[in-house]
Amino acid sequence: MIYLDNAATTKTAPEVVDAMLPYFSEYYGNASTIYGLGSESKKAITNAREIIAGSLGAKPEEIYFTAGGSESDNWALKATAEAYASKGKHIITTKIEHHAVLHTCEYLEKQGYEVTYLNVDRDGVIDLEELKSAIRPDTILISIMFANNEIGTIEPVREIGEIARERGVLFHTDAVQAFGQTPINVDELHIDMLSASGHKLNGPKGIGFLYIRTGVKIRSFVHGGAQERSRRAGTENVPGIVGLGAAVERAVSTMGPRTQKERDLRDYLIGRVEREIPYCWLNGHREKRLPNNANFSFLYIEGESMLIMLDMKGICASSGSACTSGSLDPSHVLLAIGLKHEEAHGSLRLTLSEETTREELDFVVEELKKIVERLRQMSPLYEDFLKNQKADG
Ligand SMILES: *Cc1c(COP(=O)(O)O)cnc(C)c1O
Repeated sequence: MIYLDNAATTKTAPEVVDAMLPYFSEYYGNASTIYGLGSESKKAITNAREIIAGSLGAKPEEIYFTAGGSESDNWALKATAEAYASKGKHIITTKIEHHAVLHTCEYLEKQGYEVTYLNVDRDGVIDLEELKSAIRPDTILISIMFANNEIGTIEPVREIGEIARERGVLFHTDAVQAFGQTPINVDELHIDMLSASGHKLNGPKGIGFLYIRTGVKIRSFVHGGAQERSRRAGTENVPGIVGLGAAVERAVSTMGPRTQKERDLRDYLIGRVEREIPYCWLNGHREKRLPNNANFSFLYIEGESMLIMLDMKGICASSGSACTSGSLDPSHVLLAIGLKHEEAHGSLRLTLSEETTREELDFVVEELKKIVERLRQMSPLYEDFLKNQKADG
């Protein structure tokens, strides 16, 4: 099997699993108890919180554990909307956010909030001037993703943070794809809230965190016990938290060489596909892009058919975001960068890991060439295109 869907989820690293195991079997105590067994859990949670805070230049008490990226996004948006409603009810986001942000915004619109969805250019980058002119006296929150999960484009987060800070508006970023792939310092980038998820960085599924800068008024998301400073109640997912801490420690300490290796292989893959497969192009920004992301559109191809044929060769890939597969609507991200419906339908996302090899990519390119050729031969549109080309001379 060749796994090239690391934007959907990653393999839990063996050392992360090893770090978690004792917290199922040996140290199963509830962290809220007084006795020694419980304090083992409490210590482990404190340790993970310190690792994560350290990785962002944040304070441990600014890290709140959640059940993953979707929950963190929901919390950041809903709770600030509620806490700042007396200041205003306007939120700014983009057209290319993950559904965890977009659908939360749609929910808030039904609750009487107004949302501006910023456009992006052909590479998926927002326009800072458009952002500036969208800010109003009643704007309470700017939520813009750090890096896009489909096309890999990295947004100008530092500039966005500066604008938000200058204008006195809170800035939340969904960093689920970027965290662990690019260095992030919440002070340098003026980030007030940041979402991240364990399973996108070789940690376990169902655990993530929300960074909330001290001073940000934010409501409790889950009411109940006093866990997470009474803002997110519920007995802590201790093994998950330990696993997340171990995954972050690992991601930070290996970041330089790991991402350089991925970047080199990514560019090798992009180069071969662009040179060797006709009528295709790269989606997303060529330089400002996640080290492990390649996203292509192939004309006269159905992405779903391509995925099925790749799967028959043992290759795991995606034709957009995993959340939208199963639906026939083209990806909102690909439409937002200006692709036509049929161009968006013919897209393929390949996301690498540190375990990806050049040999694997060579195999994928060879198979892809055959698959594209075969699917195009079955396409009446491609036939017409070839005929017209001949007629044109
Ligand atoms: C995966 C992803 C999420 C959702 O995270 P979960 O932990 O799966 O809930 C949110 N935003 C982005 C950009 C993602 O890639």
